[in-house]
Order: sequence, then C-alpha cells, then structure tokens
Amino acid sequence: MRASSLFMPTLKQSPSDAEAISHKLLIRGGFVRQFAAGIYLFLPLGWRVMGRINRIMREEMNAIGAQELSMPTLHTADVWQQTGRYFDIGDEMFRLKDRGDRDMVLAMTHEEIFAWLAARELRSYRELPQIWYQIQLKFRDEPRPKGGVLRVREFQMKDSYSFDIDEAGMEASYGKHIVAYDRIFARTGLRSYRVESDPGMMGGAQAHEYMAPAAAGEDRVALCDACGYAANIELARSHAHPAEGQVADELREVDTPGRRTIEEVSGFLELPPSSLVKSLLFMADEEPVLALVRGDQELHEGKLARYLGRPVRPAHPEEVEDLIGVEVGFVGPVGIATGADLRMVADLSLGPEGPSGARGYVVGGNRRDTHLSGVVMGRDVQPEYADLREAQAGEGCPNCQGTLRIEQVIEVGNIFKLGTKYSKPLGATVLDEDGKEKPIMMGSYGIGPARIAASAVEQNHDERGILWPKSIAPFDVHLVQVQAKDEAQSALAGRLYEQLRVAGWEVLWDDRDERPGVKFSDAELIGCPLRVTVGRRATEGVVEVQPRASGERQEVHEEELVARLRALWDEIP
Ligand code: ATP
Ligand code: MG
Repeated sequence: MRASSLFMPTLKQSPSDAEAISHKLLIRGGFVRQFAAGIYLFLPLGWRVMGRINRIMREEMNAIGAQELSMPTLHTADVWQQTGRYFDIGDEMFRLKDRGDRDMVLAMTHEEIFAWLAARELRSYRELPQIWYQIQLKFRDEPRPKGGVLRVREFQMKDSYSFDIDEAGMEASYGKHIVAYDRIFARTGLRSYRVESDPGMMGGAQAHEYMAPAAAGEDRVALCDACGYAANIELARSHAHPAEGQVADELREVDTPGRRTIEEVSGFLELPPSSLVKSLLFMADEEPVLALVRGDQELHEGKLARYLGRPVRPAHPEEVEDLIGVEVGFVGPVGIATGADLRMVADLSLGPEGPSGARGYVVGGNRRDTHLSGVVMGRDVQPEYADLREAQAGEGCPNCQGTLRIEQVIEVGNIFKLGTKYSKPLGATVLDEDGKEKPIMMGSYGIGPARIAASAVEQNHDERGILWPKSIAPFDVHLVQVQAKDEAQSALAGRLYEQLRVAGWEVLWDDRDERPGVKFSDAELIGCPLRVTVGRRATEGVVEVQPRASGERQEVHEEELVARLRALWDEIP
C-alpha cells in the first residue's frame, strides 16, 4: 500500500479526554475515531489490525472444529423474555419497537439466539457435539464507556457456543476452547493470564477469564507465581495474616469522641487496624445484613452477594440509623438495641479457623462516640462465616506456601459452562440414546478483538508510539522513502516494494511528499515491526533497516534485504 493513497490521518496531539495510552495512540496513529460516546469507527489502519486479529481467531476456532456462521443483531424480544434476561437486565440493553409496536432488542450477546437455532435444528444426540461461532456486533449501553475502544457501546465479539449431550461433553468442548484461546492470545502476542472467574450473570457452573495485564485495566487478579493460582479478585481466596496488636478479651466500653473511621479509631486508641472490626450494614434485596471484616481488610461486595445469593447494596445512612439506632461509624455487632435478630456474616479470618483464633477486637459500641473493646467472635457474637474480604497483595496463596500478588488487567476474553440455563427455557432438547428428551448442555465463549488491539498497545509502546506485536501489526514493513521526488530513491523504493510483496511481506510504502521528520515520526507512531529507509545511498542500492522495538539501524544492500528482514523478523518476540 502506498501511503500517498492511503487514508492515514495521523495526529500530533492526543484527544483531550483520553487517559488510556491505547486510546491516545490509536487516535493519533489514525487507527480509530470516536463517533459518539462509546461509539467508534475503524480507519483503514485500524481495520487491518482487526482483520489480522480476526483471522487468527478464525484459524484457531476452525482448528477445534468450530463452524462459522452469522446471526442477526436485531432481535425480537420474545426469546429474551423466555430466558428472563429481558427483565433481569436493566439499562444496559438497547430496546426498541418495530412499526407494528412489537418489542425488539439489539444483541447484547447471543446465547438466546444460538439456543433458539439449536432448539429448531438439533434433534438427536448423534448430531452433537456442535461448536458454532461468529464474529458479530454487540450493543451494550455501558454506564461508563471509556478507555477508547476498551469499553464501548457497539463492538465486535468473537462468540462461540458449544452444544453437548452431557456434562462430560460440555467439559470436552470447554477444554477445546481453552486450547484455542491459549493459542489465540499467544499468537496475538499478548501477555495474558487465564484466571478463575465468577460465572455471574451468565449463570452456570464454571468460568474463566483471559486477562491482559495493563495499567488501564478495570479488573484485578490475584496471582501466585509459585503454583500458578490465578483468580479474579471477585473470587480470589487468600490466607490472611494474623491480626496484630493486643486487646484484652474482657468487654469494656471505650470513649471514642468523634472517631468513626478505622483510621480515626485506630489512631485514637493506638491500636493497629487489624485489632478492629468494621461492621458494615448492607441491604440484600430488602433484608438488612451486617457484614463484619477486620479493620485492615476490605469487604468485597460481590463475595457477599454471592454468599447470600442476592444482589446487595450498602445501606443508606438513614437506614443505618433506623435499623440499628446509631449513626454510621459507631455500629457494632454486640447489643444492637433495635434489631436483635439482624443477620450477621463475618469474614472467615475472624472465625475460629482464622489465623488469629479467638481473640479480642474493638468494634462499634452502638452508641454515639463509643466503641466496645474485647469482643470475641463466637463468645459475644455468633455470626455466620464466609469469605468476604478482598485478597490482598502479600497474603498467602490459598493453594500453596507462596505469596499472592495483585495485578491490574484488561479482560480480553472469557469462557463459561452454561449447562442448561438457556437450552431449558428455549426448549433446546435432543433425544438421547434411549430415546429420551434431554436439554442440551451449552457453553459460551467470547473474545473482544478491539480489546486485544488496545491491550497490545497498552503492553507495547514507548514515548514515540506503538510497537505492534508482529502478528497483528497493520503492516509488516514500513518502507520510508525519504525524498518523494528523488528519482534514484523512487526507483529503488519501487523495486523493493515489489520484491518484498512477492516475498510475502505486507508493506506500507511511505511515498508521500512530506518532510522526512514527519515520515519518521509517523513510522514510529504507527509502529510496524520493521522499517526500511530508502535515502541518500539509494544510488548504490543501499538502504537502512531498523526494527521498531530496538531502534538499531544497519545498512543493507538491496540484494540482501529480504534475507536480512527475515532474520530480524525471527528475532522479534
Ligand atoms: P466486562 O466485565 O469488561 O464488562 P463482560 O464480562 O461483560 O466484560 P462478555 O459479555 O463476557 O464481557 O463479553 C466477552 C468479551 O467481549 C469480553 O471478554 C471483552 O473482550 C469483550 N467486551 C465485553 N464488553 C465490551 C465492551 N463494552 N467494549 C468492548 N469489548 C467488550
Ligand atoms: Mg460487561
């Protein structure tokens, strides 16, 4: 491709609202543009990157026997009503009406439609297993679209769905996807982890996410380098450190005038935060629940919700005063005047099996400006125990003697065992060997190609621009002709362009009539893995080659160029 005829609008300045580095560089490099909040378009360079990612995904999906098809993105509401998701999902779903006043939705995902197809077309266990996939648009009215193409309201997804007669079949299809996904992420050059994740809204038994470490990530994972334990923070377990400090285990009220937060109380009483217990009132649907975690730990709301099997929210300050009779900051689990039968759940680390055993803690006194010292769990309070706290860096791995670390990550893909959650309500059954009707066991598996592209930029850039992994770069070679009007340079660049193309390279030939400085900085910004510069020594047939990553230049005669590029290519990770 000649740059002079390529629509490649690079920019010197980043958009003012861009925070993520991938957002800045993809805009500046002329890969994408924003149309509206959370709605982006891909320019030719960006679309080439997407094409390369999608090609890798297709190859690896085909390799596990998955079959590509294409589903509509405009849906009638009925299938979504049958599974209940029409009612469970809130504002994230784009809803509309057709001219006949029928309810319609835009595809958020495609479990319903694939199950609908399976219900109509699959009859017998002999037709199973099946894996079907598509690369198709999804629409989600995300509350906070941000980070450029990382979280948008319209995006491409590779989504696949497996159909099996039984659990063992579903297990096998899930295993095939792990093989395909591991290869896809390795081939796209991304650093990523496969972590245990919460099946959440998809329902079902087990799920994993693929996470690319990057500062712009909105998720966190706990990792153990010793044994490979890897889990989303939503469900990561850990061994807590024992609580520090001494608190005598006899009950006694202490004055804590105006001291409400852990920091204030611990400072005032000169006790480490882990000698304190936080009492946090939540509403699970409309039932109040008092959650207890140590002062040095954070409660994870998702863990509480999962334990209770219901969505939770922190109680409003007025609700706290109504239900407990004291203001926030002085709430505690012992001697609540108003709600004697209040349900209480404490984090496991406070329990008899916890690292500190039975010991005294300081808790809220349920009276203004008062705390209660010497509270022993199991003696003075009888809570239920559950894993409520967020795992922290430096805590012990739940599976070995190792230590956990926490990383910020971008979710690039995930895999779910769905079981019969969608096949049952949509009537997707087949006859088994004995002629009995059985609901199909399904799995669902997603990857966001734009998130792969943006994550690759997050992981591979420097102050001058992008360093694309070689498998997904828009072009392999950026051929920079320094002087557009120089005859020797034009002739040599033209020859090399042909020669390289014949040898199978994708080449961007910068033949624009621009200042050399502009061409060089565009080449660094756009980030193709190899640069070939045709300049002063063109008359002798000598050019300069330079990997984008190392920046090391070497001169090469045109006859050796292909071999030299190949050698450099192989050295790029
Ligand atoms: P997230 O937790 O980040 O919202 P999700 O769990 O909703 O993601 P899925 O519904 O499982 O994601 O979608 C599968 C894949 O689609 C994700 O792993 C991600 O790569 C991509 N994806 C999901 N939501 C978006 C979005 N709003 N913008 C871009 N890509 C997305
Ligand atoms: Mg989401």
